[in-house]
Amino acid sequence: MLGRIAAWFAGKQPDQYGDGRSPRWRHVRAAHLVDHPTCFACGGNEDLEVHHICDYSTYPSMELEPDNLVTLCGKGCHLRYGHNGNWRRINKSVIFDCLIVRLAEKHAAVIE
Ligand SMILES: [Zn+2]
Ligand SMILES: [Zn+2]
Repeated sequence: MLGRIAAWFAGKQPDQYGDGRSPRWRHVRAAHLVDHPTCFACGGNEDLEVHHICDYSTYPSMELEPDNLVTLCGKGCHLRYGHNGNWRRINKSVIFDCLIVRLAEKHAAVIE
């Protein structure tokens, strides 16, 4: 718990820096990034992070579930779409919101 609080103050998201993580998380995270090497919202491939759609602290059994993971970049998409702009919040409709963003960008590109 102290580790999580310290991570808070360091401005890190609890996704990656909280304590109590499964020892397998590192491996599952790395494997996810191999399969999904781009941000699901913006398509970028820098500063990638793996977000839990159902947060692991509320749903511990979902921590290592591949279908519960989505790649988001740390350049804003993770906080903006995964957590609605606040690390303490969880955006349950993150997948839907990302799809809307991508659709809007695709059509904007067509208009240009
Ligand atoms: Zn992104
Ligand atoms: Zn997250």
